[in-house]
Amino acid sequence: MYTDQSKILETIETICQQVVEGEASNTDRLSRWPELSVRSFQKEGFGGLTVPVEYGGLGQGTQTLAKVSEIIARYCTNTSVCFGMHAVGSAVIASKVTDFQLEKYIKPICEGKHLTSIALSEVGSGSQYYLPETRMQYHSETEYNINGAKSFVINGGQADSYIISAVAENSSTPGEQFNCFMANASTPGMQWGEHWNGLGLRGNSTRNLFLEDVKIPSENVLGEFGDEIWYVFNIITPYFLASMAGSYLGIAKAAIEEVINHIKNREFSFNGRALASSSVIQYRLGHLWAKYARSRALVHYATKCYDMDQDHNLVDLFAAKAEVADSVIEIVNESMTLCGGYAYREGSTLDRLLRDARAAHVMTPTTDILRIWTGRSILEQPLLADT
Ligand SMILES: Cc1cc2nc3c(=O)[nH]c(=O)nc-3n(C[C@H](O)[C@H](O)[C@H](O)COP(=O)(O)OP(=O)(O)OC[C@H]3O[C@@H](n4cnc5c(N)ncnc54)[C@H](O)[C@@H]3O)c2cc1C
Repeated sequence: MYTDQSKILETIETICQQVVEGEASNTDRLSRWPELSVRSFQKEGFGGLTVPVEYGGLGQGTQTLAKVSEIIARYCTNTSVCFGMHAVGSAVIASKVTDFQLEKYIKPICEGKHLTSIALSEVGSGSQYYLPETRMQYHSETEYNINGAKSFVINGGQADSYIISAVAENSSTPGEQFNCFMANASTPGMQWGEHWNGLGLRGNSTRNLFLEDVKIPSENVLGEFGDEIWYVFNIITPYFLASMAGSYLGIAKAAIEEVINHIKNREFSFNGRALASSSVIQYRLGHLWAKYARSRALVHYATKCYDMDQDHNLVDLFAAKAEVADSVIEIVNESMTLCGGYAYREGSTLDRLLRDARAAHVMTPTTDILRIWTGRSILEQPLLADT
């Protein structure tokens, strides 16, 4: 079992070289869920990456998740977000786990036999992913009845279970009655929509989920009744921000590697000069590298602060994810220019990276919302002031 961060990162890198790299292009081109890559991480003991050691996991926090995500996304962003959603979900389940949930979900997760994912978003609340309209009614003493629809679920139809949010019906104070629960993939009444044909992030099986009279046992409710907002801001948001920030850093690094490779190998026969000898090109590469290094340092700093802070203050994570979103789009865009016509073609690595990077602003918490939350946190204003 791995407990040392550097050993974890080294092994992740090896799996990426042996498995993920070879799968990346087809995962994107064929919109194919990266089964082989995800299973390789589970098989090598990383299923419980974010599960505490006392429950059989590797006990890693947001910084390791960010670094793992960066390595994987350098090879394949789809694999990084699929594995990342599982890691976020595992941390959610483990945070207030019951004996039943430990046996049913956490043990198999740590054994690499169970994949989970998160279904919070809905069309009606969009970027306000913490506001479910999916309804949860008492069906009997031991069961709830769920009706509603979730949108954009990563690992949709591929995971063994999903963490779903819902609001209790007939509640006079709905804000206190938002809940999270586990739904097993095989539960009757769960229907998957078509594969979402995204511009980028095409191979992570993002799908809509329809819930019609889905019966959920009360032992599948996570934490206390009304805990959804606690999960969203104590586990889901920090771990998700870390995973996504790391993924975008990985895209940025991969783009810069493409630039370096192109510049180093491009020579003009008419004068025998290498592109790498141009001062303008050297200057532009230096500028790109600084953007990447600055964002990377910020993400590592923010995740370290978060993991060490007893109060788990989110402000640096909000700022770091917003910064990395801005910089990855600039970096990949500029990389496309620096690699010239060679890169400006369908199926080039930069084509994929550019499309994947563009999700950085729209996957929630979106960059707009993160900037607002950063300001509110600094001003000590309520985060959800306008909901
Ligand atoms: C590839 C992909 C995978 C995803 N995977 C998952 C998943 O696995 N699980 C899951 O639960 N969700 C997932 N999502 C959903 C996602 O995180 C968002 O909920 C969704 O993208 C919001 O989109 P929307 O079209 O409703 O945007 P809208 O809410 O319509 O937002 C449009 C724009 O308005 C801005 N905006 C909206 N509200 C505000 C506000 N109050 N203040 C300031 N600006 C605002 C936003 O920043 C955005 O730029 C995924 C999305 C994508 C694209």
